[in-house]
Amino acid sequence: MRIAVQGCSHGSLTAIYDTVAQYESHTSAPIDLLLLCGDFQALRSKNDFASLAVPPKYHNLGTFHEYYSGKRKAPVLTIVIGGNHEASNYMWELYHGGWLAENIYYLGAAGSVYVDGLRIVGASGIYKDHDYKKGHFEKVPYNNSTLRSVYHIREYDVMKLMQLSHSDDTIFLSHDWPISIARHGDTGALLRRKPFFKDEINSNTLGSPPLYTLLNHIQPAYWFSAHLHVKFAALYDHSSSTTNQIPKLPESLPSIPTTNQVEKNPDEITIDDEDDFDTPQESNLAPVNGNGNGTTIESGNPDEITIEDDEFDDPPTAPQDISQPNLEVGSEIKEDIKVDESVDLVEKAREGGNEESSTTEIIDAPVEKVEEAVQAVQAEASLSSSEPRRTKFLALDKCGPGKDFIQFFEIPTPTLPSSDQPPRLTFDPEWLAISRAFHPYFSTSIQQTSLPPPKVLKQLISDEIQRINEEGLLVPSEIVNEDGTVNLEWVKNDKIDITRVQKFWPTAPSQDELQNGGAAGGSPDQWYTNPQTEAFCGMLGLQNKVNPAPI
Ligand SMILES: [Zn+2]
Repeated sequence: MRIAVQGCSHGSLTAIYDTVAQYESHTSAPIDLLLLCGDFQALRSKNDFASLAVPPKYHNLGTFHEYYSGKRKAPVLTIVIGGNHEASNYMWELYHGGWLAENIYYLGAAGSVYVDGLRIVGASGIYKDHDYKKGHFEKVPYNNSTLRSVYHIREYDVMKLMQLSHSDDTIFLSHDWPISIARHGDTGALLRRKPFFKDEINSNTLGSPPLYTLLNHIQPAYWFSAHLHVKFAALYDHSSSTTNQIPKLPESLPSIPTTNQVEKNPDEITIDDEDDFDTPQESNLAPVNGNGNGTTIESGNPDEITIEDDEFDDPPTAPQDISQPNLEVGSEIKEDIKVDESVDLVEKAREGGNEESSTTEIIDAPVEKVEEAVQAVQAEASLSSSEPRRTKFLALDKCGPGKDFIQFFEIPTPTLPSSDQPPRLTFDPEWLAISRAFHPYFSTSIQQTSLPPPKVLKQLISDEIQRINEEGLLVPSEIVNEDGTVNLEWVKNDKIDITRVQKFWPTAPSQDELQNGGAAGGSPDQWYTNPQTEAFCGMLGLQNKVNPAPI
């Protein structure tokens, strides 16, 4: 299956599809699946701005609403997770997953599905310690605080994902990075691009701790992320002794100027990921002199990450504005291999014990040296009887001209796709069992109900798996009655097409409808009972706790 992976989208959906189309026309290789790693911004109309954590001066409707209204249709099956800049009201409607628009499927706060037998698992949001153990208490309309906490990842959802068993054919999507992953690739090159990550990498605070736990538990073949707006590849070896501990950084990193010496890009500003949006500190927001003569940017807040100002620039509208990402169209798959090679090389150098200058040396290694080392690694690998389990990690930049925002892969699938059919998106029965077992503990108040001990959880899930195997699931029949209705039937099939149960169904009016005055209602404060969430809960016999219709 040919897959395209994208970093942050920031509402530039049409530009992304145009880039995919351009790749396809260059290579005559159609893309089967597009994976988007958050900051999707599913804004249906301007009413959704109230639920988007972005300063008003950066509000930009983007192009998603045209897919929502049906004016445009996604040309390729698209799977989406959430980040920290989302129409959180709409994402919440589809907490369990669902179609944001025709052919665009959101995995939910957490989720797992199959595409032609390839498992796609995702965790939405970003990690903040102070909200991690809370319930999903946020309600529309959000206030200044809930507007941000609503996208903070919850332990409840992480624990659900922790129940998934390992499968070799798994791709994991997250918005922020697993903590410490920055130390498993070319850290020196990363720091040259993003010098201000140095302190966080050194103190091992760059990234999300629960994602690191998930990485070690699920051990997917691929892990894709976004958020930090830089392309970065890493190879994470699960068999190494460092697996469950924080890896040590090489003794000496390439020398990085301290903050007040860094020649900052004048386009960049330092803003807090969240809180400063409300109370921008002018001293932080002011562009920094690029002369390196000692303008100090000190936030003093250890929670801060640096976001580029242009994160909120107008999304490019013309395809040619964006069609020159930093990749050679046509050689992306090769580039993927190249990335792995350089990672191998870094590891090789580290293993060799020459840690002192390994990172810098490797970066400048001539091609022959790279090949030599890769051959050595391959020879070594072929000697060992069982191949070490490894996760290929790739983070990508946000969508924009000259940025490394998209990557193309060819990944073998367990199920052979039929050539003339689009790929099949099916439910993951294990995930459905987990969702059912966890549901009694799903909290929509600030207090999260404590989960039973791991042993009990395991038993609850295996009971649900057995129940699904024996009873099947209650899903709409494929046979349509004469009057156009469909009956429900019990289906014992572990490959239930998602579209059989959930079909895209617009809830809030689209921007077009609002402008034409054709739509009744619609306001920033309004919430909706999403029929797809009803259908999901109905299939599993669960009460809809997300946005239940008033009685
Ligand atoms: Zn972003």
